[in-house]
Amino acid sequence: MAMRSLDDLDVSGVTVLLRADLNVPLDGAAITDDGRIRASLPVIEKLSARGAKVIILAHLGRPKGGDYAERAEGGPSLAPVAARLSELLGKPVAFATDVAGESAAATVAGLADGDVAVLENVRFEPAETSKDDSARLELARRLAVFGDLYVGDGFGAVHRKHASVYDLPLLLPHAAGDLVWAEVDVLSRLTSSPEAPFVVVLGGAKPSDKLGVIANLLDRADRILIGGGMSYTFLAAQGYEVGKSLLEADKISAVTEIIAEAERREVDLVLPVDLVAATNFAPDADHDVVQVKEFPADREGVDIGPATRELFADKLADASTVFWNGPLGVFEFPAFAVGTRAVADAITRVDGFTVVGGGDSAAAVRALGFEESAFGHISTGGGASLEYLEGKDLPGISVLEG
Ligand code: ADP
Ligand code: MG
Repeated sequence: MAMRSLDDLDVSGVTVLLRADLNVPLDGAAITDDGRIRASLPVIEKLSARGAKVIILAHLGRPKGGDYAERAEGGPSLAPVAARLSELLGKPVAFATDVAGESAAATVAGLADGDVAVLENVRFEPAETSKDDSARLELARRLAVFGDLYVGDGFGAVHRKHASVYDLPLLLPHAAGDLVWAEVDVLSRLTSSPEAPFVVVLGGAKPSDKLGVIANLLDRADRILIGGGMSYTFLAAQGYEVGKSLLEADKISAVTEIIAEAERREVDLVLPVDLVAATNFAPDADHDVVQVKEFPADREGVDIGPATRELFADKLADASTVFWNGPLGVFEFPAFAVGTRAVADAITRVDGFTVVGGGDSAAAVRALGFEESAFGHISTGGGASLEYLEGKDLPGISVLEG
């Protein structure tokens, strides 16, 4: 890997365009989990302390609309994120009310050495995510005039070939930020020579997001534990009734193939043996523990059951390496967070190297009150860490290697 690090550069008096990942979950304008802002602080503080003028580029949510005006109107704006960043840094953060327009130009012109500014949600510019190379390049050119140097530290977006992630660093001298370094370092440990037993725990909503990872990790993992919404497709593939649970019927044959492949490679693929079956999808829904063999057709699975919690904890107990992605149930409803809590707890007791990946998993860990330090590493990048583990090329990383 030939990525340059920040420590190779003199940034004093230099205007740095920093691509960060500040894509936090929101409830209206309220930030419900500021983990990604906190994870971005070290690089921002380092650049500022070394006398750089720091201009932060980031996206938030998925703005909708055909042009800039419609998207800016619909939001979400990064303004509350800039305000939170200012609180965490303990100093003012300038905010530009556009991405590459008059406000951005004026904000940049007003920066002194050590100052920090945030530009408005880069996805208000439709070109940011365009498949058209020339449209992205044009936006990248408008952004490049603001800075002397590009630092890529938005790990959660490095799997995207977007203007601020891929095209902009092609136009400027560039380096990888500390967060990107740390993430790549951890994930490479999981893919190169993970110490056995290597236990992978997968949950979350849909198997389609994660089949590629399972396929790639079959090479390396000793056990793969599957729970959460994605487990119902596995259970259905084995012929069980899953009622009204989340099911990706079009993935049953792919899942069947994975199950067979795991068997061929003697990977222990562990599915739930009991489940919490609710009458409907609501925080106060009536619910019972049922065996997978007796799942009622009119119920919906919302969590793993007590026997599965114990089984998964057993399978984790002697692990030397753990990768966990995806909540084991609908953890947003406290009644159905029990399985996720139990697995998180079992992972904190592992005497080995443990990694939590996935936006919702990281949020769940914090929402359930676990100390981040109880885990070896909590990745900020859901899709990015999965694609890395799938063995895919990450455009936002490879561009920094060039
Ligand atoms: P991550 O962001 O950690 O990769 P995902 O986005 O794949 O995780 O999945 C998270 C979502 O999966 C959560 O919103 C959670 O409510 C949902 N989920 C987990 N188990 C179930 C289930 N049994 N039924 C429906 N949704 C579930
Ligand atoms: Mg998610």
